Amino acid sequence: MFAALDRHMLNLIQSKRNYVAMNIVNGFLMLFYVFLGFSQERRPWSIIAILIFISFSIFQFIEYLVHRYLFHNPKSFSYKGHVLHHDKPTGTFSLPWFIPFLISIVLFFIIYLLIGLSLAGALSAGIMLAYLYYEYMHYSFHRYPHRTRYYRRLKAFHLVHHKVAYTNFGVTTTLWDRVFGTHYLSKKKRTF
Ligand SMILES: [Zn+2]
Ligand SMILES: [Zn+2]
Repeated sequence: MFAALDRHMLNLIQSKRNYVAMNIVNGFLMLFYVFLGFSQERRPWSIIAILIFISFSIFQFIEYLVHRYLFHNPKSFSYKGHVLHHDKPTGTFSLPWFIPFLISIVLFFIIYLLIGLSLAGALSAGIMLAYLYYEYMHYSFHRYPHRTRYYRRLKAFHLVHHKVAYTNFGVTTTLWDRVFGTHYLSKKKRTF
């Protein structure tokens, strides 16, 4: 039974349908959080900018930890799936659509209990936006050329991870690799 479930999950994470569902379902959840966060209170733009900054920072730290300690941990349930992505980087690949959905709802309730509905909605919207940004950036790194220098560097940084798998765990930022000493890009700033 577990083998069948395992096979089903491995097929799911590589399917185009899952990728589309992941974006649609979690995109709507993000809009719902925006509604919760901003419908009751009018917030000044400065507060919105701070909330977005905080939520992106929270997500980027989680992104680093999950990629390094779960996706690259042979004992973790997600290891096999991530190896598939490393073997075939240009294939469609994302988490099962319901995983970020469920984690986000649990996280939302925890934040809600700590700081109330409106702020929990705003922060959860930002974290979900950061997640969808991460999924899009990762998808595009393996498919599309990027025009700006910033994105070309970030893409090169991720493609190095595909060659030297114990380095460059961040996808949307290089910050945490620099902090934890796993940053690597070669002397001659690589571009792919
Ligand atoms: Zn990749
Ligand atoms: Zn990896």
